Amino acid sequence: MLISEVYARDPFPQFSFIEIETINRCNGNCSFCPVNRKNDPRPLNKMSEDLFLSVLEQLREVDYRGTLSLFSNNEPLLDSRIIDFARMAREVVRHAHLKLYTNGTLLTVEKFRSLMRYLDNMVIDNYNNRLVMHSNILEVYEYWKGAETPDKKVIFPMRLEDEELSSRGGYAPNRKNVAAIKASCLLPFFQMVVRPDGKLSLCCNDAWVHTRLATFKHSLLQMHGTAKPTGS
Ligand code: SF4
Repeated sequence: MLISEVYARDPFPQFSFIEIETINRCNGNCSFCPVNRKNDPRPLNKMSEDLFLSVLEQLREVDYRGTLSLFSNNEPLLDSRIIDFARMAREVVRHAHLKLYTNGTLLTVEKFRSLMRYLDNMVIDNYNNRLVMHSNILEVYEYWKGAETPDKKVIFPMRLEDEELSSRGGYAPNRKNVAAIKASCLLPFFQMVVRPDGKLSLCCNDAWVHTRLATFKHSLLQMHGTAKPTGS
């Protein structure tokens, strides 16, 4: 699809992926990641519950039915409110597809069960360079194999911590030598990323919010022209 085709659409399409980062921290050590615990330059920030609810209310107002992710460039289980936030998201934005990625380090069977009451989809990335499953993730995996909720999708990718992936828009610590190319990208047309202070970054590759599109309270619905915001 070309950007000109997107511009020509009438009405202008609503985003279909939203990521809400409720805390901007990770405890991981992935050398390809701009926010691994050795490289993250961001001041610690947690989203207020008021802002989180305001985002949800505004999504409800536009009858949002796309994917709603409770993470972006972070480890969501570092936020002790994450299960409660998943519950609120389920209750308020009823038709969204609720999704969460985690590195699994803080996951227990109990937390997993609580989260899966509300989520449609969880991805548990098991990171280490020996490709061995961490013992707590193995427990969750064994539990999941016997669970009777086949409509809910859970996957357990085995991932290398030191993999070389994309340059993440020039921010990947282990791909700094990759030359930037000038090219257009459609992702900002379909994805919205809300940081803990309400700022909208260009996309999930803009982990440090180098490019701020707007600040959430006054922008979400205006940008997409669908309704008036309810937030103050
Ligand atoms: S890839 Fe995920 S787990 Fe690894 S450091 Fe980045 S945010 Fe953390």
